[in-house]
Amino acid sequence: MMTEKNYGGSSGFGFKEKTMKSQHKHEHIHPESKSKKDKEESYFSKEEISKLEQAGKIASEVVKYAITIAKPQVPLLELAEKIEYKIIELGGLPAFPVNLSINEVAAHSTPAYDSEEKAHGLLKIDLGVHISGFVADTAISIDLENSKENKSLIEAAQSALKKAAEKIKLNSPLKELGSVIEKEIKSLGFQPIANLSGHSIDQYNLHAGITIPNFDNSQSLELPQGVYAIEPFTTNGSGSVRDGKPSGIYHLESANPVRDSFAREVLEYIAENYQTLPFCSRWLVKKFGTRALIALKRLEEANCLHSYPQLIEKSKGIVAQAEHTILLTEKEKIITTL
Ligand code: MN
Ligand code: MN
Repeated sequence: MMTEKNYGGSSGFGFKEKTMKSQHKHEHIHPESKSKKDKEESYFSKEEISKLEQAGKIASEVVKYAITIAKPQVPLLELAEKIEYKIIELGGLPAFPVNLSINEVAAHSTPAYDSEEKAHGLLKIDLGVHISGFVADTAISIDLENSKENKSLIEAAQSALKKAAEKIKLNSPLKELGSVIEKEIKSLGFQPIANLSGHSIDQYNLHAGITIPNFDNSQSLELPQGVYAIEPFTTNGSGSVRDGKPSGIYHLESANPVRDSFAREVLEYIAENYQTLPFCSRWLVKKFGTRALIALKRLEEANCLHSYPQLIEKSKGIVAQAEHTILLTEKEKIITTL
């Protein structure tokens, strides 16, 4: 989470229009942080790097904790709440609702406030931590049914991530990273999910415009300084995802006027507490009770929110994921979530 779902096509696979345009205008592609283009030498301040590292360290600790509590038949709701609480306990904030996606659900699934679903199958735990908007995004997969196939899928995702993390450096051409991931996964007998990819990250912006492909997409764009999430997805299915039902995960898109005064109150709360980062209905029910669900509906009608659908493997193949966040500067490369 939030992984980037790409829409294939003849031109610019994986790139949004906005990014395509900015590529021609600027040498450094960071549409959301124009002010930084001026300070080429030190793209990040020491303080910013320290916050990125701190967020990464917390994320890595929380992953270790999550592994100890993610057991078969544990309610997903309990798991989600414990993981998110641990992030706060360690001094961070959740950068998005923890994603607990099972089997053919590749990503963008988080328990609803009244979920009774229990952990089983191949469980992906994708979590984010932020400190003042500086984000660490990381994911692991766990086999909860002692399946050899699940374990192989997980190993392939981890191995592809390791290879790509070794390969990535300043000015890496994107297609090379995609190629490393694709080759590794295929050599282990599985398919990468081609329409899911990693992404660049800016402050309070989980998808800052650049996508890190999971296959050779022939993109010759070279990576500028920045923060990048690499997240290979492996499957024994066809290798692409489709949209499923709404996940209850949203982000604030536009604070449009809303007539309903309670919906307005919820909107203000969202803007103040999550800014542009993803949040979920479960969090708002906790704060406001179930009437938050009606407010969310009003906000959706007023086009204030982007709603994330679950992402489901098209042929119902089992999906595994691994993810790390990497900081690239002129001087160094830091895997913050290691
Ligand atoms: Mn993630
Ligand atoms: Mn991600």
